[in-house]
Amino acid sequence: MLAIPLSHAGPPLGHSINLSSLSFSAAEQLIQSLGWPRYRTSQLFRWLYRKRVRTIDEMTDFSQTSRSQLQQIAKIVRFEEVQVIRSFDGTRKFVARLEDGLSIESVVIPDAGRLTLCLSTQVGCTLDCRFCLTATMGLKRNLHAHEIVDEVLSVQDRLEPGERLTSLVLMGMGEPLANFDAVADAIAKITNSDWGLGIPARRITLSTAGLASRLQDVAALGVNLAISLNATTNAQRDLLMPTVNRLHPLDRLLAACRQYPLAPHRRLTFEYVLLGGVNDTEQDATRLVKLLNGIRCKINLIPFNEFSGNAFRRPDEAKVLRFQTVLRQAGLDVFIRKSKGRDVLGACGQLGELPQHEPLLLIPAEAHC
Ligand code: SAH
Repeated sequence: MLAIPLSHAGPPLGHSINLSSLSFSAAEQLIQSLGWPRYRTSQLFRWLYRKRVRTIDEMTDFSQTSRSQLQQIAKIVRFEEVQVIRSFDGTRKFVARLEDGLSIESVVIPDAGRLTLCLSTQVGCTLDCRFCLTATMGLKRNLHAHEIVDEVLSVQDRLEPGERLTSLVLMGMGEPLANFDAVADAIAKITNSDWGLGIPARRITLSTAGLASRLQDVAALGVNLAISLNATTNAQRDLLMPTVNRLHPLDRLLAACRQYPLAPHRRLTFEYVLLGGVNDTEQDATRLVKLLNGIRCKINLIPFNEFSGNAFRRPDEAKVLRFQTVLRQAGLDVFIRKSKGRDVLGACGQLGELPQHEPLLLIPAEAHC
């Protein structure tokens, strides 16, 4: 519950409300406590999310007196430092420093006229998937809703002229369903078309390692759902994704997918990381066809992106194509994810700190303060 000071005149109060962290209804309470008309809430949020201002002083359709009044009790907290690292293929990795000194990474991926932003939802990750660099960090903490929103705002601040984000994927650092409330709050602000960022929910995809019991919650958000399946037997999934598979074994996960209330014209996405000699055989492909039987879906194959210290290897291209062919012959829609941004450790599963520090092929292009 937000403690809003009711007396707003007089000297600065001892604490400051972070406007970015307020839900719409909390902001309404604040506006009411100031004695301002209700419509000011939308006006305030448009400044925060549509115009992306960093100071109350920039809210020029509020009178000078109103601005001073607000300044006495509130401030806008945004990332102060964002480093942009460019890949030779146009992918850009944004490394933002959080208030507590931790960092998170978001990645912008241009492809065929589209511009996708991959967002993080945790610093590190709750899970321990064996093929993922982020997992080696452990969970440092959940991101707050305003930090997830700030990933989008900070990227929008730094797009090239004429560029516009066409889609968002929650596939960066972390497990979004292990931080559901913050993710839901952030999505509400990102999708709101009156005062929010106005990015439609149908252009947003939330990817989960498979927290079966929480899939239903995603439907309520209106976004697309992707499930990282990555294995075709329980034994294999236990080895590759031990924690999540122990809590939500393969059969239960697939049952939850079958019960998922898919909106008309939507389908689920299954992601499948191809690990050379581990889960990339024709038998795996055949088993995958059987597992997905009757589910309206498409499949994204992700050839493993290597990182140092990890023993898995990327399968050769012929193997990847063969896997795709088996699925296609069974009538499934299958795509092979291009692994963009690998040189800047910006591709799937490459976000986060390396376990031990080593020289990287990173080219810091800009540093903003
Ligand atoms: N926790 C969520 C989102 C983050 S991972 C999830 O598991 O879906 C995003 C995607 O990257 C997942 O499909 C995951 O299986 C995949 N991935 C993780 N590490 C990878 C790697 N090293 N190479 C290729 N894909 C990887």
